Amino acid sequence: MIRVGLRCRTAGARCPGCGSWSGRVHGSYLRFPADLPVAGRRVVLRLRVRRFTCENVSCGRRAFVEQVAGLTRRHSQRTERMRSMLAEVGLALAGRAGARLADVFGAGVSRNTVLRLVDALPEPQPQVPRVVGVDEYAMRRGRVYRTVLVGVETRRPVDLLSDREAGTVAAWLAEHPGIEVVCRDRAPFFAEGASIGAPTAVQVADRFHLWRNLSEAAERCVSRHRSYLRGTFAESVPEKSPAPARAPAESGSPWLTGHRFADRTRAKHTAVHALLAAGHSRRSIQRQLGMTYRTVQRLATAARPEDLFQGQWQNRRTKLHDFRPYLHERWADGCTNAWTLWEEIKTHGYTGLYGAVRAYLQPFRTSPIAPAARPSSPRTVTG
Ligand SMILES: [Zn+2]
Repeated sequence: MIRVGLRCRTAGARCPGCGSWSGRVHGSYLRFPADLPVAGRRVVLRLRVRRFTCENVSCGRRAFVEQVAGLTRRHSQRTERMRSMLAEVGLALAGRAGARLADVFGAGVSRNTVLRLVDALPEPQPQVPRVVGVDEYAMRRGRVYRTVLVGVETRRPVDLLSDREAGTVAAWLAEHPGIEVVCRDRAPFFAEGASIGAPTAVQVADRFHLWRNLSEAAERCVSRHRSYLRGTFAESVPEKSPAPARAPAESGSPWLTGHRFADRTRAKHTAVHALLAAGHSRRSIQRQLGMTYRTVQRLATAARPEDLFQGQWQNRRTKLHDFRPYLHERWADGCTNAWTLWEEIKTHGYTGLYGAVRAYLQPFRTSPIAPAARPSSPRTVTG
């Protein structure tokens, strides 16, 4: 080990409490900060530091210890350059591997020390991006929504905001001038926030939300016009078997499970009614679920999701249809494994796919109410 004896020769020091200069030495003691190793040997300073009396009567601090700028800091057992070297090692290798490498250098430290030095580094201040992306993220299983800001060009997160309010976004943008483009979804609070906080910035809808909106609109449009498609095919394709006499629409739910659009509508309906039951306003639901107010109203006024379908799927049957009561009974018995149930109904003559069974059972799993022992629409088995 190499020991280096040192002392400060300044006439006095500045009080860290009030900043006033003091030359009244109160006493001194030794400190032994470790410095960078030399030729594989540990280097330890033997530093005599002085205690000064603060002469400022209004200062709460009566005495203070001098620090050598660029060399020591309060309570640190290492010099500043030793600290920064170990912090760099820790950033590259983290605790355990960092401690091993430091030992090779001759600066033996524990892995916890390496991590502590990394932890003590100041938070890096990300640069204000030219193009910022604004979106929400969910916490606590979607009960709390917050805002994330991303540098679109650097593809790095820039900041997190504690809520999803226009005012918060506006305040952040106002604090960070220089943003030229705000990339956002179509949520009104982000639009409002961007207009207030960065009035000169161009607002663009981001690609993900454009594509999603487009595909949802196309799907809605196609399902709205399915009846025409069915008519065309019925005329052109000869029926393989004589069509069974169509059972008149009975009360209950005549539409199918496993249809994507129907499932989604049902899920939305359930979500809206759950929130209404929990006492949320329609405005609040609109914001929480990211729907338009009209959609919320439509879902809220419909007592059952079937009321929203306007008979779109009424005439369709799946292979699964006749096995639905069986699935309900087995579910009520406690058998909730879709694969097992699929195997069972296959032995009873079901020829459909496993996926259809799984999709049919999916709402049972998320629904707060256990499904009835029989499906809500007992229909006559025909054909
Ligand atoms: Zn002072």
